[in-house]
Amino acid sequence: MKLPVRLVLAACLIGSGVAKAAGNDPATLASIRDTAMKSDWAYERLADMTDLIGPRLSGSPGAAAAVNQVADAMRKLGATVTLQPTKVPHWVRGEEKAELVDYDGRPNGVTQKIVLTALGGSGATPDAGLKAPVMVVNSMDELNARAAEVKGRIVLIDVPFDQAMADNGLAGNAYGRGSAVRFAGPPKAASLGAAAVLVRSIGGANFRLPHTGVTGLVDGARIPAAAVTVEDALLIKRLMARGPVTMHLTLTPKMLPDADSFNVIADFPGTDMADEFVLVTGHLDSWDLATGAHDDGGGIISAMSVIDTLKKLNLKPRRTIRVIAWMNEENGGKGSEAYEAANKGKMDKQFAAIESDNGVGRPLGITTSVPAANYKLLQPLQAALGQFDAGVMRRQDSLPTGDLSGLEEHGVPIFTPIVDTTTYFHYHHTPADTLDKVNPDTLHRLTALMGTLTWYLANMDKPIGRVAPPVK
Ligand SMILES: [Zn+2]
Repeated sequence: MKLPVRLVLAACLIGSGVAKAAGNDPATLASIRDTAMKSDWAYERLADMTDLIGPRLSGSPGAAAAVNQVADAMRKLGATVTLQPTKVPHWVRGEEKAELVDYDGRPNGVTQKIVLTALGGSGATPDAGLKAPVMVVNSMDELNARAAEVKGRIVLIDVPFDQAMADNGLAGNAYGRGSAVRFAGPPKAASLGAAAVLVRSIGGANFRLPHTGVTGLVDGARIPAAAVTVEDALLIKRLMARGPVTMHLTLTPKMLPDADSFNVIADFPGTDMADEFVLVTGHLDSWDLATGAHDDGGGIISAMSVIDTLKKLNLKPRRTIRVIAWMNEENGGKGSEAYEAANKGKMDKQFAAIESDNGVGRPLGITTSVPAANYKLLQPLQAALGQFDAGVMRRQDSLPTGDLSGLEEHGVPIFTPIVDTTTYFHYHHTPADTLDKVNPDTLHRLTALMGTLTWYLANMDKPIGRVAPPVK
């Protein structure tokens, strides 16, 4: 029996695995969503990363193992993998303990334990610790105003996290306020001669968990710096209201010579516009206190899952999809600097860049810095994301992202998922950022968003434009 030509062709296509001709039509976008929603690939890879490796701070054995694990996973999907070298800071946490050894009303023989954790880049106390009087300030302004009192003291900069902002969709703003103090406070206190510096942990759930994070301390002026739990900051303040407080503080971190590390770059080649790249990214390093399941395990895994989804559907993008697992977002940004340096002069080929780095909360939509004039080109994308209640779309002239700011300054439009961050800062940079906090259904939704967004950008007919350089 002679088959109609169309059927023969279809049979050949299925048999030979040749890609279907598909673009940004609603049916293709829906198939990406449905495939991602059903796939356990991302959760399994996230379990591999967090359970088999764990913490992945730059320079650590965990970070090196994660580079290999991601490279292997992407090679298994048929992507072309490149390890892009970069030198990274190598800071290692040591012993960390503190107690209040004197305060008004202290019964004989009693001391009060203070729960804290060293901040990234902290200097060390002597091995036996140091004893110094504590002073508390409530803002950077107060630190500046009381500069003359700082010398020889342990300064607590006590700025509360605004959970009400987080409850109203502004967790990033609340974090920005706290992290600015965590970054700038320690070097300022160091310059004023402080014996050590403490900040109140930046987070909204007060379960006596310390939240680490990077400081702006530099070589030659690395004083001991730590984050205390909210409960302990409050205790110190109450005791200070009774009279002078003395702390015994021991922190023994080390800043080792810069280490060799890598970004993992995995290319899934395009068809007729293969020399243009859509970057879909997350960061591979994590803080050392936990396994970085939300920050940023879920982000990088959801970026990697885009290739898994397209492979399952046998879809070939027009532009090359480039998955990047950035190294050293948390305490240096050396991975993104290495990529920019390697792509100088090729920025016009970076069509758009995506980074997921706000945890695995329920996806609600996307924020982008595409030029206002081209915003309407994203309407079909918005409709597709709306099919799974992730259709909120926001545009800003520039986005605050950990790894993509440099690309954006070179004109590359940036995209980032909007996710529910109400509880993200409960776990962020604490010992509790672990796999059990990640809801598999929510990770499915994030992989659906990343897949749909990446595919859409990789198959747009028209250029999406360039971001205007920042006004200086
Ligand atoms: Zn992060």
